[in-house]
Amino acid sequence: MASESLLRCCGLSAAVEGKSILHDIDLNIPQGEAHVLMGPNGAGKSTLGHVLMGDPTYEVTSGEILFDGEDVTELAPHKRSHLGMFLSFQAPVEIPGVPLRSFLRAIVEGQGRKMKNKEFRKKIEGLAKTLDMDPAYLDRELGVGFSGGEKKKVEMLQLLLLEPKLAILDETDSGLDVDALSVVSRGMELYQKTCEGTLLVITHNTRILERLDVDRVHVMVQGRMVAEGPAELIADIDANGFERFEADAGTNDFECSEAAFGEAK
Ligand code: ADP
Ligand code: MG
Repeated sequence: MASESLLRCCGLSAAVEGKSILHDIDLNIPQGEAHVLMGPNGAGKSTLGHVLMGDPTYEVTSGEILFDGEDVTELAPHKRSHLGMFLSFQAPVEIPGVPLRSFLRAIVEGQGRKMKNKEFRKKIEGLAKTLDMDPAYLDRELGVGFSGGEKKKVEMLQLLLLEPKLAILDETDSGLDVDALSVVSRGMELYQKTCEGTLLVITHNTRILERLDVDRVHVMVQGRMVAEGPAELIADIDANGFERFEADAGTNDFECSEAAFGEAK
C-alpha cells in the first residue's frame, strides 16, 4: 500500500460534439496495482479509456490527468505513449498490406527504442511462442482475417513488447471465446510479472478477472463513478448486477479530496 500514484485524474469531464459524456471523474491508480473498471453498456468506460489516452475525438471540459507525476491533460496521444501509457482498443484495427512483423517494428521505433533486427526478431518470436501464437502470423497482414482470439494475441504481444508503465485494456463487449479469454489472462499475468505493470482493465466479463489479483474495483454508471471497492465487489456485481448502482447515478457527488481516494495515498 501507500505506493506512489501512477495515474490520477481529478474532476475529469469530457464531451463529444457538445454532448457531455463523462462527469467529474476521480480515479487514482498506484504504481503496480491492478484496477478494474466495470459498468453497464454505455456507461462511458471506453470513453474514459480514450480520454485518458488523449483521443482527440473527445474534448476535456474540466479536470486534469496526471501520469507519473506529470500533467498530461493537454498532451498528444503519442506523447502519452512515450511516457508509458498504453490503450488496447475494443475493436483492433486491420491494416491490409502491412505484415504484423512490420507493424510491431514500427511501434517499437515509434517509441524511440533502438533494437537490432536480430534482437527484435528473437523478441517477437519468443513472445509469439509464449502466447501460443503460430509465428506464421507475424508475416500475415495486420488483423486481416484474424479471429477474435488471434486479434487478442496480437494485442497482448504489443503489450509485452512495449512494456508500458500503465496498460488500459478495453475488453470487447461481444464476448471472448475460451481461447481468447485465456490469452488475455496469460498476457495480463506476464505483463504484471515481467515488467511490474500497472493495469486498468475495463470489462464486464468477470471471468477474465479470475486469474488476476485485483486491488481495486471502480464502477461507472451514466458517465459517473458511482462506487469503488475491493476485489470482492466483483462477486457482488456478478450476483446482483449494476441495478443498485444505477439507482445512485446522478445523485453521487464525489469530492476530489484525499478522502475520495479511500486508503490510496
Ligand atoms: P461503455 O464503454 O461503457 O459501453 P462508451 O464509452 O462506449 O460506453 O459510451 C458512453 C456514451 O457515450 C454512449 O452513450 C455513447 O453513445 C457515447 N459516445 C461515445 N463515443 C462517442 C462518439 N465518438 N460520438 C458520439 N457519442 C459517443
Ligand atoms: Mg466500451
